[in-house]
Amino acid sequence: MIPASPTQPSSLPLEQLSPSSRTRIPDAHADAAFTLDERELAERRARSKRRLHTVQIPAIRAIGFVVLCTMVLLQEPAGARFGHEARLLLALDLIYPLLSWIALRLCFGRTGPIDLGLVFLHLDILAWLPNLGRLETSNLFFGYLLLVRVADQTGFGMRRALYFDNVVTVAYLGWSALASAHGSPVATWSQRLTIAATIYLIGIYLSLTGAVTEQLRGRTRRAVRTARQLVAELQHETKQLEAQAVELEHARRAAEEASRIKSQFLAVMSHEIRTPMNGILGTIELLLLTHLSQNQQQLAKLAQQSARSLLGLMEDLLDLSRIEAGRLRLQPVMFDLRALLEEVVELTRVTAGQNQITVSAHLPATLPRSVHADPMRLRQLLLNLLHNAVKFSPPRTGRAMLEAVVLDSRPGRARVRFEVRDNGIGIPSDQLERIFEAFAQVDSSATRRYGGTGLGLTIVKELVDVMGGHITAESSPGVGSVFRVELEFATEGDINGSL
Ligand code: ADP
Repeated sequence: MIPASPTQPSSLPLEQLSPSSRTRIPDAHADAAFTLDERELAERRARSKRRLHTVQIPAIRAIGFVVLCTMVLLQEPAGARFGHEARLLLALDLIYPLLSWIALRLCFGRTGPIDLGLVFLHLDILAWLPNLGRLETSNLFFGYLLLVRVADQTGFGMRRALYFDNVVTVAYLGWSALASAHGSPVATWSQRLTIAATIYLIGIYLSLTGAVTEQLRGRTRRAVRTARQLVAELQHETKQLEAQAVELEHARRAAEEASRIKSQFLAVMSHEIRTPMNGILGTIELLLLTHLSQNQQQLAKLAQQSARSLLGLMEDLLDLSRIEAGRLRLQPVMFDLRALLEEVVELTRVTAGQNQITVSAHLPATLPRSVHADPMRLRQLLLNLLHNAVKFSPPRTGRAMLEAVVLDSRPGRARVRFEVRDNGIGIPSDQLERIFEAFAQVDSSATRRYGGTGLGLTIVKELVDVMGGHITAESSPGVGSVFRVELEFATEGDINGSL
């Protein structure tokens, strides 16, 4: 009597596991018993097989023999003397399973191709026959006890159960032949043949249930195999992703380092070039004060113009590199906002005047008087926007305007929007986002016509970001553009309180 749930190999064959699956899944939440390690799996399987054949099956067989003994004792006629033969039988029922258990424990795995467990499953039937001889004197029905061997083998599958069905039928027929040779009066041949045929048929029926068990086990095995494959693939992908993450991290560091070096180089170079450029500009100015022929004056002015634009470019590059390197520090102080805006407009008028472009300002009375910010940077960004408005507006009819709108004003804080408008060439809508990128210009021919580097708006945007505000642009080609910058300022009350 053997358990009908044998531990058969139910997991993925070792060779099907990928090499990457040799390691245990490093997931703290994973089932501690789960492993993809081939060696560990093989060891576990061998251990559980040994336990099954040397502990579980022998223990259940021994219990079966104890049950058999009890049946024999119960079938003894009341008051009958417990004879020599009966004692021998009981000794056989108790000693045989014990000896076979010991043999299995000592010899399991050492008998080469012979499966000792299977040998004992056959010998059990031989050991049952003398018990059957005693039991069937009271009832022939006890012959069906042999079917226990078929039933307990269904867990191993249909073929094995069918095989034992044949074995027990042959054993019963053999036993019947032996009994009739000894002239046993218990049953006639036709009775025994009927029992043998019934044993065989019931055995077939039991074997069919083995097929169902086999199917279920097959399904479980396939599910486990699929799960293992999925886990192995997942692990492989995780490793690939980890490797990619490491590569990306390297690339990011390299890019950061390259950008830092570039910014440093730009800062150093711009600084180094600025000094001699100021020398050149100063010298040209002095030269222009001397007595020069008309032609010489024209050439000196051209040199002055070129030196100025080169210096402008240097200033822009220096600013950009400072911003990119995160080294731009604002120097906030209290200042008169209205005065600063008027100054910006006045400065722009000087350049606009050359092309007869009108520059106006619209500053409301509600504008906070004193605000706390970096006046140099605010002047720089507004000058940049106004300078563009003038640059891209038509001579004589062009108009540039600076307007301030107070969006919110509470004691100590004010939110102001600065709008720079023009009626210039405008910007196509698909280019509006791009113009804030470094060196971006809507039309490369514009560089020749209007001059410029494509750095002005990049610096403006960065400055607005550093100041915690935001900038937007709206434009229609041929009609004009408007740039809006929103900034929040601490005003007098708050500053006095917080300083
Ligand atoms: P640039 O030195 O070329 O003026 P900016 O970064 O200031 O560099 O501007 C980038 C580009 O955006 C300009 O080349 C121009 O094509 C476009 N742009 C900027 N402001 C205006 C404007 N007010 N009107 C039309 N186009 C403008």
